[in-house]
Amino acid sequence: MEQEIILKAQNICKYFPLKKGLLNRHVADIKAVDDVSFEVQKGDILGVVGESGCGKSTLGRTIIRLYPPTSGKVMFDGEDFTSLTGEQLRAKRKQIQMIFQDPYASLDPRRTVGHILAQPFKIHKMGNKQEIKDRVMELLKTTGLDPVYVNRYPHEFSGGQRQRIAIARSIALNPGLIIADEPVSALDASIQAQILNLLKDLGEKMGLTYIFISHDLTVVEYLCNKIAVMYLGKIVEIGPRDELFTNPKHPYTQALMESIPKIGQGKKTKRVFLTGEVPSPINPPSGCTFHPRCKHKMPKCSQQTPSLITTNNNNDHQVACYLEQ
Ligand code: SF4
Repeated sequence: MEQEIILKAQNICKYFPLKKGLLNRHVADIKAVDDVSFEVQKGDILGVVGESGCGKSTLGRTIIRLYPPTSGKVMFDGEDFTSLTGEQLRAKRKQIQMIFQDPYASLDPRRTVGHILAQPFKIHKMGNKQEIKDRVMELLKTTGLDPVYVNRYPHEFSGGQRQRIAIARSIALNPGLIIADEPVSALDASIQAQILNLLKDLGEKMGLTYIFISHDLTVVEYLCNKIAVMYLGKIVEIGPRDELFTNPKHPYTQALMESIPKIGQGKKTKRVFLTGEVPSPINPPSGCTFHPRCKHKMPKCSQQTPSLITTNNNNDHQVACYLEQ
């Protein structure tokens, strides 16, 4: 049976203008996200991975319209989310929520947790005072927080508890899609596992779809069923988790996979670490932007840009590399 597509990103670009001089002249563009297209099916947990500066956070923020896209569009639930305005945008926004890396920065320190969790219902005029209060208590319980904490302020909670509050707020309006941007990377390892399990459980119970942005491949392997690998603003490989982890096709994905620490395998594994720095997105290399770091590069790699091409029979694993074309 065909799965329902909940989100379709079509040729998304997000460029930030670089201005210089007394006249603040536009001299170049920082191509943070450059012509990115992908689909997310209902119930998917799509992990977006890559080194820092690869554009994964900007992609998440552009999808949710925290940043206006330079070009391209995002179809969400069959509607062009990028072109919505006014009441239509407000109504649709309920269905896409975001969780940030630093819960402390994303929660208003002057408000109690009860007030923070009641806000979404008040903004969208959902329920009377008692109904909102009941729903807030339910959200606290659902996310593993004791409802007696309802009158406490964010600073009175631990980092893990604050992330639970942020998660509670993100699920308040029963969204269809949650974009989680490095939601566990600021937490201790033991707390990370609890938060990942909470996200997984909520996903199953509520039928949520996630785009999970992370630099940590072990976290992504644990949580996600699909993975998109980004390099310098572009997706270079996307496919089912197991295929990417057992049979990565793109040399960049292979290098990322090789860089995961492997403990207790009893023998030394061949390690192919990435060498060199990620080039600047202001003046990215021509052709395949990975070519200055790629040990398989061929003459055409610096002249033409490879497109994402399907590499498997299920049509769900795509790679942008001339080795596969
Ligand atoms: Fe390497 Fe060429 Fe493939 Fe780019 S297209 S990853 S440079 S082999």
